[in-house]
Amino acid sequence: MWKRARRGGRPHRDTVPPVELCDLCAATFPADRAVHCLVPDSSCVQERGGRADGLRLLTACGEGHLEELREDYRRRPFVEEELWAAKVAQVLGTGPRALTVEELARRTGLHEPEIHRAVVWHNRRLREARDHPGP
Ligand SMILES: [Zn+2]
Repeated sequence: MWKRARRGGRPHRDTVPPVELCDLCAATFPADRAVHCLVPDSSCVQERGGRADGLRLLTACGEGHLEELREDYRRRPFVEEELWAAKVAQVLGTGPRALTVEELARRTGLHEPEIHRAVVWHNRRLREARDHPGP
């Protein structure tokens, strides 16, 4: 028998329980067994920007793996320029690619000096990657 879509919502799905993926070991498990925490991460911007920018939600299969992940992020430096560069990249990736600095500032919520520092940081990273490619 067909299940009707709930009014204003998606069709009712009760056959496949939600599954989560551990960020450390990639194991899959029922979502209600997942453990989560938020950690500072300057490479992480949210889709619409806002207060959660610079925070990453970690998901793990248990407290042990969550603690290992948390420890990795504790050692990772939080670089403001990286966060600003991620915001600029997000705006440029979702709209017109040619914007003035004023338009970029309006759409990212950043100040112009922050945009300039983000571009300098981004270009330095590109040079380093070009000059010292990884394995
Ligand atoms: Zn795990």
